Amino acid sequence: MSQKKRILITGAAGFLGSHLCDRFIAEDYHVIGMDNLITGNLANIEHLFPLENFEFYNHDVSKFIHVAGELDYILHFASPASPIDYLKIPIQTLKVGSLGIHNCLGLAKAKGARVLIASTSEVYGDPNVHPQKEEYWGNVNPVGPRGVYDEAKRFQEAITMAYHTFHGVETRIVRIFNTYGPRMRLNDGRVLPAFIGQALRGEDLTIFGDGSQTRSFCYVDDLVEGIYRLLHSDYVQPVNIGNPDEITIKDFAEEIIKLTGTDQKVIYKELPVDDPKQRQPDITKAREILGWEPKIDRAEGLKRTYAYFKTLSSEELNKVEHNNFDKYIIR
Ligand code: UDP
Repeated sequence: MSQKKRILITGAAGFLGSHLCDRFIAEDYHVIGMDNLITGNLANIEHLFPLENFEFYNHDVSKFIHVAGELDYILHFASPASPIDYLKIPIQTLKVGSLGIHNCLGLAKAKGARVLIASTSEVYGDPNVHPQKEEYWGNVNPVGPRGVYDEAKRFQEAITMAYHTFHGVETRIVRIFNTYGPRMRLNDGRVLPAFIGQALRGEDLTIFGDGSQTRSFCYVDDLVEGIYRLLHSDYVQPVNIGNPDEITIKDFAEEIIKLTGTDQKVIYKELPVDDPKQRQPDITKAREILGWEPKIDRAEGLKRTYAYFKTLSSEELNKVEHNNFDKYIIR
């Protein structure tokens, strides 16, 4: 019988899921990846298939899940995770955050496994407290276009806590703020792949609204380290993981223009409904409880990310749908 710890990672073929697979493989775990490939991409984990301590199930976690043998940990990272995705596939977004986590928790209870769920800064909605700390309950519009994601993630936290208190399942909750890095999907509508893709295709960069809204971007390796530490901690309440270095979207566009050397300009488009005006994590808890803080600044992280996007073929670059919310905007 193998001595390796066994971990199930849902959303394994996605941006974050694939980086987590890499990390746990590097730590000598037996990794069981699961993904239904709606938004995931096998190319992100192709390098893991030859390994003995990696297996993959092409399965929708919203349907009953079974994993043979022992299981020590479950990371629930399956979910569409960008505004354009929630607008295109709202029902799947709700199902994976509700039925999907219910299946994971049931499996965890049966196996005695510890579960860590990917929650999000979206639970704070369009926040009226700044920066956001874990005790803030949020300002979410349940029936707006982001409601399907925000409320699914809020439900996910609630059911996770309920399994912890009622069934004694060991649970951890990470609230992830904007994260970037290699393997982001070029066409997911997120601001970083949108801007870099536009620069590489020689298009103007599209700023939504006047660009005064802020975000705080965390490099993926920092995020993975925070998650790794949280999983192995004994802290049950939610923990923010993100980089507090806040920037306006307008200044961010300027950074991408400099980074890529593009001579394109910025153009302004309508701001999507319920787009949060500002977002910055308060990471006091992560610092104190996990001894964690981000190490990779934006200049370095953007350099690494741009290097990845430059490796994409021109076919991949050009098959992108235009980064346009217009047809999805709900009024
Ligand atoms: N954004 C933008 N241009 C784009 C894509 C996004 O100005 O081409 C803006 C978007 O309106 C938001 C910010 O960039 O204010 C971050 O958007 P993203 O979708 O990356 O993440 P989220 O809104 O979920 O933080």
